Amino acid sequence: MADPISTPSTSPIASVIESLKQVVGAQGWSTDEAERRSHATDWVGRFFADPLLVLKPSTTFEVSEIARICNDNGLKIVPQGGNTSLACGSIPTGQGDEVIVNLSRLNRIRDIDMFNDTISVDAGCTLASVQQAAEQADRLFPLKLGSEGSCQIGGNIASNAGGTNVLRYGNMRDLVLGLEVVLADGRILDGMRALRKDNTGYDLKHVFIGSEGTLGIVTGAVLKLFPMPSTAVAAVCTVPSLQSALDLLILCKKHGGESLTTFELMPRAGLELVFKHFPSTRFPLGELQDWQLLIEFRSNDGEERVRELFETILSQAFESELVVDAAIAQSIQQNRDFWALREGLAEADFMEGAVITTDISLPLSAVPAFMDACSRAVLAIVPTGRVIAFGHLGDGNIHFGLLQPLGSDSEQFLSRGNEIQSIIHTMALSMNGSMSAEHGLGFVKNDAVAQYRSQVEHDLMLTMKAALDPKSTLNLGKVLRIENGAFSAC
Ligand code: FAD
Repeated sequence: MADPISTPSTSPIASVIESLKQVVGAQGWSTDEAERRSHATDWVGRFFADPLLVLKPSTTFEVSEIARICNDNGLKIVPQGGNTSLACGSIPTGQGDEVIVNLSRLNRIRDIDMFNDTISVDAGCTLASVQQAAEQADRLFPLKLGSEGSCQIGGNIASNAGGTNVLRYGNMRDLVLGLEVVLADGRILDGMRALRKDNTGYDLKHVFIGSEGTLGIVTGAVLKLFPMPSTAVAAVCTVPSLQSALDLLILCKKHGGESLTTFELMPRAGLELVFKHFPSTRFPLGELQDWQLLIEFRSNDGEERVRELFETILSQAFESELVVDAAIAQSIQQNRDFWALREGLAEADFMEGAVITTDISLPLSAVPAFMDACSRAVLAIVPTGRVIAFGHLGDGNIHFGLLQPLGSDSEQFLSRGNEIQSIIHTMALSMNGSMSAEHGLGFVKNDAVAQYRSQVEHDLMLTMKAALDPKSTLNLGKVLRIENGAFSAC
């Protein structure tokens, strides 16, 4: 693909690139090779495709001008936030003249409305900065992800992010009240409304949430805030089986109601890697078992009440043999230490070696049977592979992965990725689950709609894409597979 520096200055593309540079000014683009490479490489570091240019607009108007120019001149836009996508949604595909539009300079907190319990932000604000702004106003913005220091609100919206608080507060879709979106042709859809009720026609924001930058570029959002819980108490428990974990979840919901925010699964194999790669982490219980849970309650009832709640639940759980061992955090630091175990899981397996990952969700009742059958199925193919299945058990979202056998060749192992993922996906679907719970499809799973959704659903998605982005300017080849510039049908 052409390099902007080596593109002859008389070529038509060179003059379009000049126009784009002028839109963003000297601060909004760079020729720095290392920077360009990092924007064009996925988070795991497996894929890279060179863009024509990386642009960093600082206003909605600049984004709109970029879209208009690219759309008029046949250039493709790759919208990019923190580039933490685990589905390669935010890097070029190498299929066309692609320009990365990174939103990181669009990073103002626009407004906090304490009566309305809302925060209006630019899309390039990091999730952590929005959490902090809410906290300073004694409010909670509840989306919580391992990548929160880097990922951006626009990326969270575009991928309908989930995370560890979905059980109580829902996905990103549940947290968005209004959106500002730049359309493929540069028009600005100003839907920055902070209303909890608004039935004036179709609710257009939902078209863009979860669309992975294929239907519009999110530039601003109005988000819901919640009262800041005064107390957060976490516990780590070991359970004898996955069925016991589900029974314990019922007990937690029964006694804790809405104050149950987190119910996460941590397997022995995953935690062993956390201890190996993050040596400052410690297991707070006696002996590591096959299944551990991180459970957290958050409430305004005071710490003593929350501890009593935990003790009630755990004493019943011990009596019914649902729990083998448990530790309730005794301090804020210990709470953090417990969370470090869960947060380390997302990265430790990548640090260990090559992983074939998935992001499936299931009806909760199907989880134990799925884990058993799926582990056996993948180990039948790679007998010395290491199954690492962890994640958001409370909402049925499991990151089921297979880590390369010790001492094996990683490329050879990864060459079986499609075969293994297909087994896992097919099994999840056969149990009424989904093969894509929260990470999206990007281009690594861009044939999933044709493969796993009905013909009617696929047709509707193609119709929406054609209506909103008839020239395929936005995120070419993501979500829906494209052949020869046209969207592929089944
Ligand atoms: P990017 O990676 O930059 O982009 C993601 C997608 O959104 C791409 O398709 C991109 O084109 C599009 N996009 C980005 N910004 C915009 C915009 N302004 N307008 C339109 N489209 C845009 N995800 C979860 O859901 N739950 C988790 O628990 C979770 N944990 C993670 C832990 C780690 C350690 C890592 C690395 C990732 C994790 N993720 C998780 C995946 C990822 O962080 C999230 O999906 C996040 O929401 C992506 O945000 P981002 O700003 O990095 O987006």
